[in-house]
Amino acid sequence: MTQIRSNRPHFFQLTYDEFAAFGHQHQLNPAALAEIFKNYYKHGLTEPRWHKVAKPARRLMEQKLSFFLPAPARVHQAGDSTVKFLFSLEDGQCIEAVLIPFQKKYSLCLSSQVGCAMGCDFCHTGTQGFSRHLTTGEMVGQYVRAKQWLMEHRPKDARILNVVFMGQGEPLHNFDEVKRAVEILLTHRGASLAEYKITVSTCGYMPGLARWKKEMPNVNIALSLHAPDDIRRTQLIPVNKVYPLSSILNELDTIPMGPKRYITFEYLLIANFNDSESDATTVGHLLKRRPAILNIIPFNPYPGAKYQRPSDAQTTRFASLVSNFGFPVTVRAPKGADIFAACGQLKSQLYSAGN
Ligand code: SF4
Repeated sequence: MTQIRSNRPHFFQLTYDEFAAFGHQHQLNPAALAEIFKNYYKHGLTEPRWHKVAKPARRLMEQKLSFFLPAPARVHQAGDSTVKFLFSLEDGQCIEAVLIPFQKKYSLCLSSQVGCAMGCDFCHTGTQGFSRHLTTGEMVGQYVRAKQWLMEHRPKDARILNVVFMGQGEPLHNFDEVKRAVEILLTHRGASLAEYKITVSTCGYMPGLARWKKEMPNVNIALSLHAPDDIRRTQLIPVNKVYPLSSILNELDTIPMGPKRYITFEYLLIANFNDSESDATTVGHLLKRRPAILNIIPFNPYPGAKYQRPSDAQTTRFASLVSNFGFPVTVRAPKGADIFAACGQLKSQLYSAGN
């Protein structure tokens, strides 16, 4: 059922300084405001400890601000500790987010849109089409909810070390709200993530990419490369026809990179499509003079997928050939494949038996 979305400003779209300014405007106790911020972002509570806030102040905040958080409609835990959330939003739409374990800490993969307009040929999300952009509060809300879930279910490991905007949606198609969500996740007294702990991924959506160097905080960027030439890249990522690979690489070259900062190039390795030795060599030449890390992702099939996963031997061969070009090459271990939480498998519904 479609529900009515609140038109009050959203608490989760405010930096700490903005929330403090709101409090100042309404003569609220600064210590109580700091406590509320900490409750959500540091202590992972599902609602503020209102008893520490005077009743009139509480009433005023609830009247003026929306504290809505995405509600976990379903939570699936994979054998490898990956957790996939199906979140329901205020208007009844659903999105997914995934906690990916890494040495007793987690990376959180967030969604930026309901569905996606890019229609990538290999992507499960792409098959559901585009419904709408997510708001800043809905993106930050995924972080807050995931943190709360960890505090409740895995309190010893409740640390979200990295946030990646790689879930449903093309983040740069929703540039303003994603940029704002990044700013909130960086904000002091809130999640307080360091810039290098946040990565925004793009398939090469040029209108957003062109704004990056002037507007985006200094967070990491990841490009879905997936093929070394325009013909195959357009087959996988249709928007490449409008914004070809050379123009995307030229734009990336203009983004200032500080020391020890890299662009991650994601390469979805598909059997008998882009996994040959000559593909490895072309990718190597393309990236060798760039501040690149190549992350090879062996394709994760989903029901109805038309592509195949390469063998482990072929993946290793490809990775070893590219690594001769002198930049770091990693192969992403599949995570959460048994609950369809792996890269490119997200969709606003669940598939496996027993879901
Ligand atoms: S791969 Fe990313 S950009 Fe492409 S359709 Fe899927 S979600 Fe959208």
